[in-house]
Amino acid sequence: MRIGFGWDSHAFKPGVPLRIGGLAIEHPEGLAGHSDGDVLLHAITDALLGAVSAGDIGSFFPPGDPRWKNADSAIFLATALEEVATAGYRIVNVDTTLVLAAPKISPLAGELRERVAELLHLKPSDVGIKAKTPEGLNQDHVAIAHAAVLLEPLVKSEDLARLSAAIDSSSEIDDVVKSLVSEAPLGAGLRRKLPAFDTDDLT
Ligand code: MG
Repeated sequence: MRIGFGWDSHAFKPGVPLRIGGLAIEHPEGLAGHSDGDVLLHAITDALLGAVSAGDIGSFFPPGDPRWKNADSAIFLATALEEVATAGYRIVNVDTTLVLAAPKISPLAGELRERVAELLHLKPSDVGIKAKTPEGLNQDHVAIAHAAVLLEPLVKSEDLARLSAAIDSSSEIDDVVKSLVSEAPLGAGLRRKLPAFDTDDLT
């Protein structure tokens, strides 16, 4: 198994829509960023990439690249999921903590959990969404996200053992069939010569 951890922060900015965890949230301010500023999806993306040692979100989607201007962060997450699958792993569960003064996340936590689970192709019960206010940090104008992921191999070692046993026994079966065909009367039949005429000669 492998674990991954991701962290991100974005400042609040007036006049931009707020997107967290792939959800559009009603709020007077959004998160500033080159992309849609989805702090939670960015942290999960980094956790996934980190779990398979595939770099980080900035190495895949440099902030200077105009293609990612106002981009939907679900694209970044989808790329991280591909990296995880290519490395031969799948997600067991994801846990996250948001740190922000406003808006209140608890009334949205259920919806957020379902949306993040949908984006990760997981059950909502495999996604943790927690939120805290930044007490004593003097960071009321910032949203911070932490994410931890656990991965397991797509093919488990016991499955591999079963597969290799099946391959061994199937090659044995193949050998038995070959030896039977070469010895049995059927084998002689297969080597029988074709008749000297074909259907065209009969018309
Ligand atoms: Mg970010």
